[in-house]
Amino acid sequence: MTGSGQLLEGKKGLVMGVANDRSLAWGIARAAHAQGAEIAFTHQAHEGIARRAIPLAESIGSPLIMPADVTDPASLDALFEKIDTLWGKLDFVVHSLAFSDRNELSGRYVDTSRDNFLMTLDISCYSLTDLTRRAEPLMAEGGSILTLTYDGSQRVIKSYNVMGVAKAALEASVRYLANDLGPGGIRVNALSAGPMRTLAGAGVGDARYVYQWMEKNSAMRRNPTLDEVGNTGLYLISPLSNGVTGEVHYVDCGYNIVGMGMID
Ligand code: NAD
Repeated sequence: MTGSGQLLEGKKGLVMGVANDRSLAWGIARAAHAQGAEIAFTHQAHEGIARRAIPLAESIGSPLIMPADVTDPASLDALFEKIDTLWGKLDFVVHSLAFSDRNELSGRYVDTSRDNFLMTLDISCYSLTDLTRRAEPLMAEGGSILTLTYDGSQRVIKSYNVMGVAKAALEASVRYLANDLGPGGIRVNALSAGPMRTLAGAGVGDARYVYQWMEKNSAMRRNPTLDEVGNTGLYLISPLSNGVTGEVHYVDCGYNIVGMGMID
């Protein structure tokens, strides 16, 4: 613990990917705010998301809430300009976003179209590299960048398809980015969450089946809660993990260590 008793006292962070109060980004933001962090938020421009995301950000006194889309460089230029003007620095970034055509998140991976492959990798993977490059100049005193991933990167999980390929590339990006930025004291890590009932989670075919399978077969015989994801996210963006970078840290109640189904 720090002298003041709050892990993120005086720290400034950017959180991207809150869609509603079930979003993994919200779990992490809530935990970070409870430890003293001041947080800027972005949300996707469309009404349905803004209507839920903005009040959440306001509820924890966010000084900057604006739309941004990772496929629109102008929106990211505007975002980083605003952060520079507001704080002139950043201590942490939470990248908690992904997207793919849900028609291709079922059936066979082999049927993935070129267009959706490129879009999925662009939004779900390249965006981390883009954001990290933009954040680096604001992290002259060091910082922590965190992304969210899923075990479908390592193993075949029903229907995860091209998103598994994107997450594998995302996890490799974490290692390369960690090595590039490590000398400057900037850490880059991924949190690999077990299945959670979110908007994005529901877009994957057979989501309910996968959720129940993992609940029955994880070491702890349950799936993680949003608070558990939030608190591990807090650890990874806080000084508690200052010696940790390039890691993929599982918060999956031990599903990934199990080699055999447990169902009686
Ligand atoms: P969510 O739907 O709450 O969040 C996904 C976010 O991505 C939304 O806020 C959406 O607006 C944003 N997004 C999509 N396309 C975007 C774009 N072009 N530009 C900017 N933002 C965009 O769902 P979630 O489950 O909280 O997802 C957050 C992250 O967690 C994702 O990377 C997801 O793959 C990962 N994850 C989810 C689970 C799960 O089971 N839900 C498990 C492991 C990892």
